[in-house]
Amino acid sequence: MSKNYVVGFPRIGEKRELKKVLENFWAKKVAFEDVKQVASELKKRHWNYQKDAGIAFISSNDFSLYDNMLDTSIMLNAVPPRFQTLKDETLYFAMARGNKDAVAMEMTKWFNTNYHYIVPELSLEDEYKLNATKIINEYKEAKSIGIQTKINIIGPITYLGLSKRSDGGDTYALLEKVLKVYEALLAEIATLDDAITVQIDEPIFAKDNETKVLSLIKPTYDRLAQVSQKINIVVSTYFEHSTEATKILLHTPIWGIGLDFLYGKENLESLQIISKSDKKLIAGVVDGRNIWKNDIQKTIKLLDEITLHVDKEQMIVASSCSLLHTPFTLEYETQMNAEIKNWLAYSKEKLDEITLLTKLFFQETLTDEENRQFQKNIQANESRKTSSLIHDKTVQTRVQNITKRERAEKYEQRIIVQKELLKYDDLATTTIGSFPQTKELRKLRRDFKNKLISLEDYETGIKAYIDKCVAFQEECGLDILVHGEPERNDMVEYFGEQLKGYGFSQNGWVQSYGSRCVKPPFIYGDVSRPQPMTLAWTTYAQSKTKKIMKGMLTGPVTILNWSFVRDDKARSDVSEQIALAINDEINDLQNAGIQIIQVDEAAFKEGYPLREAKIKEYERWAVRDFKLSVASAFEKTQIHTHMCYSEFNDIIGTIEAMDADVISIETARSGNELLKIFADVGYKQEVGPGVYDIHSPRIPSVEEILKQIKLLLEVLPKKQLWINPDCGLKTRTYSEIKPSLENMVKAVSIVKAQLQ
Ligand code: GLN
Ligand code: ZN
Repeated sequence: MSKNYVVGFPRIGEKRELKKVLENFWAKKVAFEDVKQVASELKKRHWNYQKDAGIAFISSNDFSLYDNMLDTSIMLNAVPPRFQTLKDETLYFAMARGNKDAVAMEMTKWFNTNYHYIVPELSLEDEYKLNATKIINEYKEAKSIGIQTKINIIGPITYLGLSKRSDGGDTYALLEKVLKVYEALLAEIATLDDAITVQIDEPIFAKDNETKVLSLIKPTYDRLAQVSQKINIVVSTYFEHSTEATKILLHTPIWGIGLDFLYGKENLESLQIISKSDKKLIAGVVDGRNIWKNDIQKTIKLLDEITLHVDKEQMIVASSCSLLHTPFTLEYETQMNAEIKNWLAYSKEKLDEITLLTKLFFQETLTDEENRQFQKNIQANESRKTSSLIHDKTVQTRVQNITKRERAEKYEQRIIVQKELLKYDDLATTTIGSFPQTKELRKLRRDFKNKLISLEDYETGIKAYIDKCVAFQEECGLDILVHGEPERNDMVEYFGEQLKGYGFSQNGWVQSYGSRCVKPPFIYGDVSRPQPMTLAWTTYAQSKTKKIMKGMLTGPVTILNWSFVRDDKARSDVSEQIALAINDEINDLQNAGIQIIQVDEAAFKEGYPLREAKIKEYERWAVRDFKLSVASAFEKTQIHTHMCYSEFNDIIGTIEAMDADVISIETARSGNELLKIFADVGYKQEVGPGVYDIHSPRIPSVEEILKQIKLLLEVLPKKQLWINPDCGLKTRTYSEIKPSLENMVKAVSIVKAQLQ
C-alpha cells in the first residue's frame, strides 16, 4: 500500500451540488430525501476520486451537511435548551440557521481561514450522550463501494477550546463528560472492522496554549488510545506548528501525528524527538490552502530533509490540512489563460500530486503517464520563474525606489487644515459606502458581463443608480455622501479585476459556511494599476452634488487577505505592490478634486497570525502598507478607513499607527463598552462607531439611536465623533435604509440641539 494521505476533501461539490440542494430544501422546493440523495452521490464521487488517484488514507466523516463542529455537537448531543424539542434534520438546521422561535447558534471563523464553524453552546448542567449514527453510516457507505476509510473526528480539546459556556466559565471543565462520549464512540467504531484509523483533528494545538490546556493532552490521549487495540489514532494538526503538543503526544500511545510543514516550518524542529518514537509522521507537504501547483522537486527535497531525522518507514505523505480550503477541480476552468492555468492545482489535481510525490519519494516505478506529469510539473514551475506575465521589472524597480512611505504632516496639523476646508460639523453623518444592491442593478452588471448590453447602456445604468443614490442621501440629510458602489460585485474582486497580476476563476468556489461559497481572486504576478479604477464613478457622483463626495477604495491588506496569494513571493512584498497601486488611485482622486477618500481595511484583523510570536511582523508590514497606500494624500485630503470589527483592545496601538484621519468601526451591538479602549489610550484621530446594526433588517428608532449616540458621547468628545451605520448597506433594501438613515439624522439633530 502506498503511503499517502489526504486530511480531508471538500464537500460542496464541483458544481456546488450540495449548495443547490440544501437551498432548495430550505426553500421547501425539495424533500430531505433529495438532500440525502445528493449527499450520498457526492460522497461516493469524492471517495472514488481519491481512490482512483491512488490515495491510501481516504476520509469518511469529512463530509457535512453544514459544518463538522455542528456535527460534533450532534454527536455529543450538546444541544442548547432552545432547540431541545426538535429532532433530526429540523434540529440540525435550526441550530445552524435558527427558526421562528429560536435564534441560530453563533458562527465564527475557523482559525485563520475563511471557513466558519458553528460555535458550540455548552453548560455545566449538560448531559452528553453518544449519537454515532452519522459516523458509522458514512464508514459503512464507503465500505459498500469497496473503500475502507479512516474516520475523521474533531478532537475533544479543540472542540472545547472553540466552545462557549452559557455562564462564561471554562469549557474545559466539561472535558470529563465529553471524553466519556469520545470513549464510547471509539468503542463503537472498534466494532466496525479489524483495524481502523481514526484521525482526530486538533488544530488548536497549532496555537499558543496555556500550560493548563497542554496538561490536558496526555491524559486525554492516553485514554482515547487505550479504548481499543483495533484503532490507530492519528492526531492531526495544521495551519501552524504544534511543537508543544507534539512533545506531549509522543508520550501517549497514539499511532501517528499529522504536522503541517508548509504553514508551520518550525515543525521541522520536532523531527529528532519524533525519530526516537515509534509514531507515524503524517507529513503535510501539499498545500491545502492555496491553488498553486506543488513544486514537486522542491517538496522531494523537503521530504528528504525530514528523512535526515525520521526513518522513511515512519513517514506518510499528506496534504497540509483538509483540502476544504481549495476549490474542486480545474476541469471547468475553460476560459482561463492557459499559461496561468498551467500553474494551478485545485483539490482533485492535488490528489495526483500527492500520489506522484509519494512514488518519487519512496522510489516506486512511475508509469509513463506519471513520468509525463512529473516533467510537466518541472516545466510549469520553471516557467513561473521567468514568465513575463508574472515578473514586471517596472513594478519591482518602483518598489525598490519607494521614498515616501507616509504622509508628511502630522495628524494634529492635518486635521486643522481639513476641518477648515471641509467645514463639517461635529457628529457629521455619513455611510460606509455601499447602498442596496437591487435586482435591477445585479441584472445590469450581469448583462454587461455576459455582453448582452453595450458599454454605453451599462454606464447609463450605473449613472442612473448614482443619480438616485445621491439624491436619496440628500433627502435623508446626510452630511458626507458616497456614490453607493453600484459597479461593484465585491469589494476585492472589483479591484482585482482591474489590477495587473490578478486572476479570476470561473469555478474556483470554496465553502465559506453552510451552503455559502466564495470565489476568491488570485494574485499570480507583480501587481500594478494600468488605469484608474474608481475615478470616473467618483467624480461623476461628485458632479451631482454640492456636498462632499467620499471616494471609496479597498486597502492593500484586505485585498491580500481575501485573495489566493502567489507563493513565490512573501505576502509582505505582494502587499507592498498593491499599496502602490492603491496609492496611484488616491493621487488621481485627489487631483480630480475628491476631498475625502475612504480606504477600507475590513479584513485587516483577519490576517493576524495564529502564533503570538509572529504578530509583530504581520503588524509591521500591514501598517507599513496601509500607510504607503495613502502616503501621497495631500495634507487637506481626509483619509478614512473602515473595519468590520468592534474588538480593538488587543490591536488599538496598531490601529493608531495606521494614522487614518477617521476610522469607522462596527460597535453598534455593544453599546459603548468596546469604544472605551479608544478613550483609554488617548486615541487622537476621529472615530465613527456604528450607531445601528445593518446586519439585521430591523429599523432602529430615533430613541434607540439617540441613546446610542449619548453612550458614545460618554466616551469620546463630540468633536472626535462621526455618526454612521456600522457597515455597508448593500445587503439591505431601500425601504429599510430610508427610515433607518432618516432616524439616524434626526437623532443627531436632537443631540446637537440638546448640546447647545
Ligand atoms: N465600503 C464597503 C461597503 O460599504 C465596506 C464593506 C465592508 O466593510 N465589508 O460595502
Ligand atoms: Zn464593515
